[in-house]
Amino acid sequence: MPDRQPLPPPSPIATEEDAANAPSFDRLPLAAAMLENLRRLGYLTMTPVQAESLPLTLAGHDLIAQAKTGSGKTAAFALPLLTKLNPRRFAVQALVLCPTRELADQVCREIRRLARAEDNIKILSLVGGSTMRPQMASLEHGAHIVVGTPGRIMDHLQRGSLNLESLHTLVFDEADRMLDMGFLNDMVFVARQCPGKRQTLLFSATFPDGVEQLARQFLRQPRTVKLPERHEADKIRQRFYEVSGENRLEAVARLLEHYRPVSTLAFCNTRRQCRDLLKVLRERGFHALALHGEMEQRERDQVLVLFANRSCSVLVATDVAARGLDIADLEAVINVDVTPDPEVHVHRIGRTGRADRNGWALSLASANQRRRVDDIARELGTQVEWHDLAELTAEAGGTARQPLLPPMATLQILGGRKDKLRPGDVLGALTGEAGFSAAQVGKITITEFHTYVAVARQVAEAARRRLSEVGIKGRSVKVRILEIPDETRPETASRANASLRRKPKP
Ligand code: ADP
Ligand code: MG
Repeated sequence: MPDRQPLPPPSPIATEEDAANAPSFDRLPLAAAMLENLRRLGYLTMTPVQAESLPLTLAGHDLIAQAKTGSGKTAAFALPLLTKLNPRRFAVQALVLCPTRELADQVCREIRRLARAEDNIKILSLVGGSTMRPQMASLEHGAHIVVGTPGRIMDHLQRGSLNLESLHTLVFDEADRMLDMGFLNDMVFVARQCPGKRQTLLFSATFPDGVEQLARQFLRQPRTVKLPERHEADKIRQRFYEVSGENRLEAVARLLEHYRPVSTLAFCNTRRQCRDLLKVLRERGFHALALHGEMEQRERDQVLVLFANRSCSVLVATDVAARGLDIADLEAVINVDVTPDPEVHVHRIGRTGRADRNGWALSLASANQRRRVDDIARELGTQVEWHDLAELTAEAGGTARQPLLPPMATLQILGGRKDKLRPGDVLGALTGEAGFSAAQVGKITITEFHTYVAVARQVAEAARRRLSEVGIKGRSVKVRILEIPDETRPETASRANASLRRKPKP
């Protein structure tokens, strides 16, 4: 995007004023050596998630905490687990599940720093992508704390190289991302191997149904910590554009051309408007999909997979259809029409500017909708910024711009949970010998019968060929690219989406 601001390095403490009012660790029931170590690490005051959760977790409660990246989660779960740890007992007493190797390594490093107050605490990282044998050897030497990805932890449990009998703390870190990565079954398997008498802590930036279910299943009378989203508003940059009736839908295309967001949610007030907008966007070559109430569940799921894994640039939806939709990482929300209800507006734009990134909230209003915008400004308690469509990058006229393409494409594999496919299997089949880098593989979604793998658009065909030729775990698989055909001229949203189900032309 042209004028996106570079982000400052994440800091858990937002301002000096916050820091001055923030509570100190001294008020917590922590050993003197631990307090001293925290001071040495520069942990002078608690971050909000630490201040809210530590009194509860140190008292032994299970916890569900909503907290985003950079909020200081590691200490929020590491302090209670370290406090309970008996270093003289050579057994795994705490297990932290993380979505990726990088996050697991990061958590491991941070716990090591926090554990310095005590000698000889062994913390082991068990993640996929490295060979099993050295990990097994390390386990034989004994570890007090294990941090790892669900798939690899499950492998160790199945081979009997990891024993969780002495475990007293189980942590799900970034639970929503673990679910995004298709780890649900592995997480359930691992949690079931833990002793019933334990403390369970769950951290997640968002709360889709899956996370709630997981919490219901594995936490006991959990306390909940939810931090107000007060800092989020600063990250949403809001602009209003005046349009006339005729140019409204064209204006959406121009906004996309100009701001070039990777993922955009476009809100319409009516289903009819959704349909018309989808048509306009498709005709101009955008990879757009619609979500509406009449869709069957399977189709809805597929649309959401493509949008969430960045294989689709624009999702067009009404408020009703978008209800319950939980997708982080939206670069932009476009209000194709301002809503009459200011609260709905605030809710809509709150879907961007999350996860420590800036987001655009772009709204189109006709002259006679100015009153609605005034209501919104009142609700937000701010002035709104009006901009002129003429400021937007001129279309086609001069230098032809590259079309806005999504960075990823989706491979659909026939085979899913029923066939015991796991994210690690798919990742393994593409990386390593196959020659694709982990960075070229995106989100992996496994449903009962299908697996959806996002891969970098440029290598999609090569990745498809590779999987078709070599298979996964020695089994051959049927793979196709699940694409949105460019030249579709849909009569209705539903028919446009229906083309998803057809095999695209090679
Ligand atoms: P999260 O897991 O929520 O993304 P981390 O636990 O990794 O966040 O913390 C982010 C950064 O902030 C780390 O560098 C950590 O050392 C630092 N940090 C965490 N809590 C505090 C604190 N109370 N005071 C100062 N720095 C902190
Ligand atoms: Mg973390």
